[in-house]
Amino acid sequence: MSSERESTQAVKTQSRQWRGVLREYADRLNITDATPIITLGEGGTPLIPAPALSKRTGAKVWIKYEGMNPTGSFKDRGMTMAISKAVEDGAKAVICASTGNTSASAAAYATHAGILAVVLVPEGKIALGKLSQAIAHNAQLLQVQGNFDDCLDIARDLSANYPVHLVNSVNPDRIEGQKTAAFEVVEVLEDAPDIHIVPVGNAGNYTAYTRGYTEELERGATTKLPRMFGFQAAGSAPIVLGHRVDHPETIASAIRIGNPASWDLALAAQKLTNGYFGAISDAKILEAYRILSAEVGIFVEPASAISVAGLLERAEAGLIPAGATVVLTVTGHGLKDPQWALRTADGAEITPTVVPVDTAEIASVLGLVKK
Ligand SMILES: *Cc1c(COP(=O)(O)O)cnc(C)c1O
Repeated sequence: MSSERESTQAVKTQSRQWRGVLREYADRLNITDATPIITLGEGGTPLIPAPALSKRTGAKVWIKYEGMNPTGSFKDRGMTMAISKAVEDGAKAVICASTGNTSASAAAYATHAGILAVVLVPEGKIALGKLSQAIAHNAQLLQVQGNFDDCLDIARDLSANYPVHLVNSVNPDRIEGQKTAAFEVVEVLEDAPDIHIVPVGNAGNYTAYTRGYTEELERGATTKLPRMFGFQAAGSAPIVLGHRVDHPETIASAIRIGNPASWDLALAAQKLTNGYFGAISDAKILEAYRILSAEVGIFVEPASAISVAGLLERAEAGLIPAGATVVLTVTGHGLKDPQWALRTADGAEITPTVVPVDTAEIASVLGLVKK
């Protein structure tokens, strides 16, 4: 154990590799020397200019590519914190309800820490990539015959009455870890953006960014708070509608949530930042999904593309000021749920053309003329 600790120390002082959010931001997180650092190197994700989206909107658009985290979603930022704190508290097992990415992340960080992850997912409703991740990382995964909101109710119940530690975003450590994404944006832009757009499911991330930006403003690193814009899928838009949705439906499975856990916090964050919540149809989500992959070169899962769809909708309505700096968080990697890339906008399957082993014939299919 002590030699393990020494080698961790060596990494800390000798390597310039990104050290994960707990070490990078130790002085700005609720951890102490007694907190074990359970990390897979999360955070430090790229903030990428998106000229194609800037051109479409007249704004200066940047993409915070959270698919580049170790398990392919921003959930890792909160999970490193939640699992580290759980281990500090002596937990031997953690539990979460998940639309997929939380389970993938909890499973990876728990197994890295040598403890058990129990995950409850809605039966048949999570993307294959995410299901594979949780199982690959040795989680005890149960498919519940209900929706995400049912899973969360049961996970809360179990953690209140049995020796399992809840790591959903109702766990404040999750939001605390996730706020670090705002710190990274400020480091690159050297101020807060004018507008920051995120997909909204449980609204934990919307809340976390607001907290991160608020702390940056308080310590004088920025001159303003960004306006926080959050988007929900039209069939799953409780915050926009102002009431819970009992049977949420959308192809964006990561945000198919009818009763957001951080609803009140999100409304407070909206008020604080002069923010906005909007709803987007599945057709518009898929259109944006394609624009992002085909014009910008960034592949995300459908839920993440709602940030792009939201930007385009607001820009079309004339509500994005010319030249404004806008950051879009794209929350999860496209390889988690890739089936949507193989369909056209009207749902037809895309099958790549098959050709014989023949240069001349392939040149002809490609429309190439011999030089
Ligand atoms: C969890 C998740 C969301 C929603 O985040 P909340 O904090 O629940 O609002 C959006 N996109 C992806 C890919 C996610 O995994």
